[in-house]
Order: sequence, then C-alpha cells, then structure tokens
Amino acid sequence: MLKPNTRYGDLKEAYLFNTIYRKTNEYLISNAGKKVFRMGVGDVSLPLCPAVIQALHAAVEDQGRAATFHGYMPEAGDPALRKAIAEHYRDGGVEMDEHEIFVSSGACDDLGDILELFERDNSVMVIEPAYPEYVDTNLLAGRRIIHLSSNEEKGFLPEPCEEARADILYICSPNNPTGAAFSRSGLQAWVDFANEIGAVILFDAAYEIFIEDKEIPHSIYELEGADRCAIEICSLSKTAGFTGTRVGYTVVPRNLIRGGMNLNEMWARNRETRTNGVSYILQKGALAVFTPEGQRQIRDNLRIYKENAACFMRALEAAGIWYTGGKNAPYLWMKCPDGMSGWGFFDYLLKEIQVVGIPGEGFGACGRGYFRFSAFGNPEETKEAANRLYHLLERG
Ligand code: PLP
Repeated sequence: MLKPNTRYGDLKEAYLFNTIYRKTNEYLISNAGKKVFRMGVGDVSLPLCPAVIQALHAAVEDQGRAATFHGYMPEAGDPALRKAIAEHYRDGGVEMDEHEIFVSSGACDDLGDILELFERDNSVMVIEPAYPEYVDTNLLAGRRIIHLSSNEEKGFLPEPCEEARADILYICSPNNPTGAAFSRSGLQAWVDFANEIGAVILFDAAYEIFIEDKEIPHSIYELEGADRCAIEICSLSKTAGFTGTRVGYTVVPRNLIRGGMNLNEMWARNRETRTNGVSYILQKGALAVFTPEGQRQIRDNLRIYKENAACFMRALEAAGIWYTGGKNAPYLWMKCPDGMSGWGFFDYLLKEIQVVGIPGEGFGACGRGYFRFSAFGNPEETKEAANRLYHLLERG
C-alpha cells in the first residue's frame, strides 16, 4: 500500500507570515485611513537593472529565430555563465574552475536538492535562529537535527563545539534573520572543525554582496581548507533583484571528497537526473549581471538598500538599542525594549507607529525577545518608519 511521507505532519504551519498578515489586516480594518509601513519583508522592491532587462529582451528575440533559437540548456548551466561566475570569483581573489559552478533556479531549490548527495541517516546541525528551509527539508527527509542556539553574548555567531558535531553543518553568513556575519577567523574555525570531523558545510551566501568590512569573507573559499569541506550556495535574488526571475548558482569543489566519492562528480550526475537546465532567456539575463555595466548597476540598487539599513542603524544607535546586522547585511536584528517578546513588540509597533517587522521567535525559540527589520523596502517609507521607531523608543 502506498505510504505518504507522514513527516509533512511534523512541519510547522506557515504560521509566522500568516499571523503577521492577519494582525496587520485586522489593524487596518479597525483603523481606516491609517497607513502601515511594512518593514519586515525579505523580498526586494527595486526592479531589475537595465543591463539585465536588455539582455532578457535580446534573448527572447533569439528564441524567435531559427538561427539563434536554443532548446534544452546544459544541466549544469550555460558554459558562458559558468565561466563569467568563475571570473567573478577570481576577481574576488578565489581561484575557481568553471566546472565547480552549477547554475540553479535559485538558492532555495538547491538548498533542498543538494541533500540528495547525503544519506538520510546523516545528522544535521542548524545554527538558530535560522532560515526555516534548513530545518524543514531535513525534517522531511527524516534526518536527526541538532539545533545549536546562538545568542547575544556571542553576537549570534557561535563557535564550533561538541554539541555542533554533525555530518552536515549549515552556516549562513551574512545571516538571515540576524544580519550577523562571520569574520575570517570565526569562519575559519568552522572550516577547521568540519575538516577535523569529516563534516560537510552547506554555506549559504545569499547575502554576500552586502558585506562591507574587509575582515568578513564574501566566499567560504577565501579560507584555507574550505574547498575540502564546503559547498557554497549563492543566489542572484538579493544581489541583482532576481527573486521573481530565479537564477542562482552552487559551488561544489572538485576537492570535496567523502567516503571515497567525489561530490562534484556526484552533483554533476545529480543535475543530469534532476533538471533539464535553467531557461536560456534567464541565463542570458544572469550573464548580464556579471558584465562591468551590470555590476555597476546592481551596486546602484545596493546603495539604496544600504541607505535603508543605515536609517535603521542610526535610529537604533540613537535610542541606545542593542542590534546586529545592517552594516554587512540587509537585515537588522534588534533587542526588544523592556524585556518585551517579539510578538509583544510587534503589537506595540503596529499600534503606536504603524510599523511592521518580524518577531524573532518566528525563526526559532532563541529568537524570542528580538525583532527583525529588512532594508529591502521603499526608501521614503523606510526613512519615515525609522524616524517613528526612534521617537517611540526614546519616549519609552
Ligand atoms: N537563503 C537565505 C538565507 C534566504 O534568506 C533566502 C531567501 O530569502 C534564500 C536562501 C532563497 O533565495 P532564492 O530566492 O535564491 O531561492
């Protein structure tokens, strides 16, 4: 008899965003005419840059002419795009062979699919608070999950420890939701730990473009020994506004060998089995991101998001509130005042200043008492929201 995967019953409901949506709507119904400032969303608000749009249009035209038409694309990605990404790594000081790069339909897809490289009886370590996909995908596969709590004393950047001993280690830096980013030495400790215990790090670099500080690595491969233990998962979603366009890439180094098996070769084989490649049109759009013009234009958008983050940073600093993120990440993770819970602070902000953010407990129990703001909103609204936040916190 067919047996459905009963672990679906173990997944938490999409409770967090549903509750935020419900509470905000209820407020708007009973306070007609009020405007709400939605400062929680992790989706981008600025459009794709002109270089990408131009490339997408040209690619659509290609598909309408027999001479330039493309059918199935190579499963691992368009060789030109893989080469451009490898060059981008080289510009950042990391030597990379283009065969180590695999074009994807976004980080979310690959964070799930990559688990097919590992048996289900491997254990998994997730640093919490965490992006929910790390837990949910492994819960569905039936893996044992170690939830390693992070905390304010360590700036939400825990060090490797006995409790973290697992086969697969998730590290997200700069982090969603805390905005905290590992320094070179902090990340090196995790790389050394993984090599020592034979684990594989799944390094989520979705927000690397937001890094400003020199001592924070953009790629885990900047660190000694990472090519022997880490897979890096990247996305153009936040880098270049591709959340609705869908292109990312994953790096599986040739030196990554476990149990005598080469994970790069396994992943190449996995792609042949699991995908018929990313659309020609989208890969042409992605290729434009890696041109000098594309790089300049995506950085124009980045500056706008960074100014949004700076508005929140100034407000929190002026009000003397502890927070992480903002400088090297699009998220700010603040401590709620007066011992309030994240949900308590949510209600307070909505009622008093009509600003909506995300309660920290939505990302795991150790997020209780913290609150996440996003820098992806409209600049004018962000300025106003940060200003209201400052005056509210000052008033106490
Ligand atoms: N990883 C992290 C940490 C994220 O926050 C997100 C999206 O918000 C993703 C991955 C998914 O990115 P993509 O849009 O490429 O699927």
